Amino acid sequence: ATPTALLVGTGRGAQLGILIKGPEVLESTRTVDTIVLDKTGTVTEGRMALIDVIPAPGETRDEVLRLAASLEHASEHPIAKAITNSWRDSPARHTVLVGRPELIGDLPLPRDFANFNGFEATNTRTDLGKQPKPVDDLADFEEFDDRTDLGKQPKPVSDLPVPQHVDDLANLEEFDDRTDLGKQPKPVSDLPVPQHFANLEGLGVRGVVEGRTVLVGRPKLVGELPPELVVVWDQAQAVGRTAVAVGWDGEARGVITVADTVKATSAEAIRSLRGLGLTPILLTGDHQAAAEAVAAEVGIAVEHVIAGVLPADKVDVVKRLQAEGRTVAMVGDGVNDAAALAQADLGLAMGTGTDAAIQAADLTLVRGDLRVTATAIRLARRTLRVIK
Ligand code: ADP
Ligand code: MG
Repeated sequence: ATPTALLVGTGRGAQLGILIKGPEVLESTRTVDTIVLDKTGTVTEGRMALIDVIPAPGETRDEVLRLAASLEHASEHPIAKAITNSWRDSPARHTVLVGRPELIGDLPLPRDFANFNGFEATNTRTDLGKQPKPVDDLADFEEFDDRTDLGKQPKPVSDLPVPQHVDDLANLEEFDDRTDLGKQPKPVSDLPVPQHFANLEGLGVRGVVEGRTVLVGRPKLVGELPPELVVVWDQAQAVGRTAVAVGWDGEARGVITVADTVKATSAEAIRSLRGLGLTPILLTGDHQAAAEAVAAEVGIAVEHVIAGVLPADKVDVVKRLQAEGRTVAMVGDGVNDAAALAQADLGLAMGTGTDAAIQAADLTLVRGDLRVTATAIRLARRTLRVIK
């Protein structure tokens, strides 16, 4: 039978916004001496804001942002959100929406606007949804090419361009999850739909946009940066920003810099954890310099910053620390933290984080407040003392 004090401990935990998987979890809090903190979304808000888009020579800012945003639409990563939000607010976007005024909202009307009145959907066989075929002027509309997979495609009539990838906005939020690559995005707003989208966890995203293979993420994914972009990259890093490279057709075409903010409560939380005798370690997939800037802000020593770690390797960092004889608590929020949370002697998930993290953790901090980590450990230790 579970000692009453343990049950009381877990009940008190719930009141404080700490969900405990089971009373047995509390045991490891006694010996924990090291606490590994994920950076993005745990120590920082995880809500990144776009700072700058820097095109490579010969490229334009708009094109770099537009292609990056097309891909990132399919990602939930904080960097992805910064990029898509920025495109949404960008004056450069070329909106091609046809429909009710409320659909179009306050967007500017495009020049050379054409109303394809009388087009009727015929193709229901592809992911791209129904494709229009002209039905109005039958004299000009009798020929169709039905030799391709896509079914009948409209032939050009008069001088109007034939729209491609016409989407039925009734399906605006649908995703195709029938492939190995995971959920495939459907068009939202005016961005082209990437094909063969792949989320390369901890590295970036890849997909085919308008026939070009586009990559956004770490430079090693994208290709060598031209010297102009290396300068920009180093500058961004020097001030602690996160930078991602954008490339297509095998070449780096731009750099996008984003900034996250450290949670107002993180420094205090880390002081409390130290007060409990724990050594805080900052662990991240982000670059060393970005990580060090955050560490400095919250009071974590440079030698306790472990950066550039791939999601799959986060668990190895925990194992290594355990092999050194440490008892390790880990706090994280992302899918990429789940394995490490499970490996840690005590795994704590941000309640604001992903389901994968919450499922892997022993404790969940409901409000995503890092200060509650110290509260949880203090409460658990006190509860255990009562039992002894
Ligand atoms: P963290 O460990 O800080 O939570 P991640 O492991 O999620 O970070 O990501 C590590 C790095 O991988 C990012 O800093 C970025 O360079 C790259 N990355 C991951 N996902 C994306 C994405 N959707 N778009 C661009 N870059 C990405
Ligand atoms: Mg994270």
